[in-house]
Amino acid sequence: MSRSAAPLSLLDPPAAPAARRAADGARRRTSASAVLRTVLEHGPVARSTIARLTGLSPASVTDHCARLDALGLIRETAAPRRAKGAGRPHVPVDLDADRFVVGGVHVAVPYTSVALLDLRGRVVAERRLGHDEGTEPDRVLANAARGLGALLSEAEGRLPLGVGVAAGGWVDRDSGTVVEHALLGWRDVAVRDAISERTGLPVQVDGHARALVNAERLFGRARGSRSMLHLFVGNVVDAAFATHDEVHHGPRSQAGAIAHLPLAGGTEPCECGQTGCLQAELSERTLCRRARERRIIRSANPVHVVRAAAEGDPAAARLLVERARMVGRAARLLLDVLNPETVVVTEVGVMSRQDCLTALREAVGRRDALVVPSSFPDSVLAVAGGSVALDVLYRDPLSVPAAPKRNSAEPARSSEESN
Ligand SMILES: [Zn+2]
Repeated sequence: MSRSAAPLSLLDPPAAPAARRAADGARRRTSASAVLRTVLEHGPVARSTIARLTGLSPASVTDHCARLDALGLIRETAAPRRAKGAGRPHVPVDLDADRFVVGGVHVAVPYTSVALLDLRGRVVAERRLGHDEGTEPDRVLANAARGLGALLSEAEGRLPLGVGVAAGGWVDRDSGTVVEHALLGWRDVAVRDAISERTGLPVQVDGHARALVNAERLFGRARGSRSMLHLFVGNVVDAAFATHDEVHHGPRSQAGAIAHLPLAGGTEPCECGQTGCLQAELSERTLCRRARERRIIRSANPVHVVRAAAEGDPAAARLLVERARMVGRAARLLLDVLNPETVVVTEVGVMSRQDCLTALREAVGRRDALVVPSSFPDSVLAVAGGSVALDVLYRDPLSVPAAPKRNSAEPARSSEESN
């Protein structure tokens, strides 16, 4: 049965070869992705183990490892010297995490975070750019691109693979735009084009709640969870939901817009005319205003409330616990609808205080769901931006442009750059 030699029959629709090629391509992408994910989770790891964990044939794993090695994403690690056996089938492979970085940009209400992340999702450099001159999109995005450029020029020998941009509000991944972000005053801002024109790098854009679900999936504590709800409570309040490896976006990426869901017991008037909307009630602005009213802080920085509580101010601790309880009620609402295995909460008190986490869990009140704080308490915004790009990389590692081989490339680069 030599399929390839057979002429196209009338029973073969003309689209079949193209469809078959597309299916082959998709299969190859999926397999390469599975191999790279396994190396991320288990590396250094033998190819035979990768085959066992992924269900791919040893030959296929060898083939994919060769491709990923050629791209510079993985490398063989030092093999344990053993006398018996010929060849080197058990030389383990691991991520080549020092070579590549992705850029991450997160646009928050008071500042933009720019960062570089390595292939393990670790932040290797980070900078905050304040919005002292306002949040006009052109200026904010030009500053972000400049900030990334500065970080890259300081990261000697690291090659950038792309940039991920995350923000709250309504962010449409497919068109690469921030459709609406009321607190920034942004509407239909073409973020992907703006950053990619200025950096010359491929750029991906997504909502920060979804971006952080991908970060948890790839690098976080909730890795391996079959369904996950993420609740992001900053100045913006939004949510994201994933089953297995797929984050739900919905048409035009509108999923997770929960800012105006009513929260029982809420007292805060919202700009939409209702009272007790999630975002009005739980935003950091509200937290800081209440903290100022109670003379806990004078600033508009939620971290100062956490610091006051850590230094023993009972009013600060009470305020944070109150907020955590309200966050728990919000989580409960969503949990009842979506029934996820894991709930991840990004909220300043819950990430830093056990009493807040306890209050959150009590308010959720369901023992069958694992309720955990974000895995990235020290760098959550930097991780959000970079994860948008890393998610794309891990889904389709073969799309990485071929990099110069390590040995030939490195001496030339370092002598050039050490001025
Ligand atoms: Zn509202």
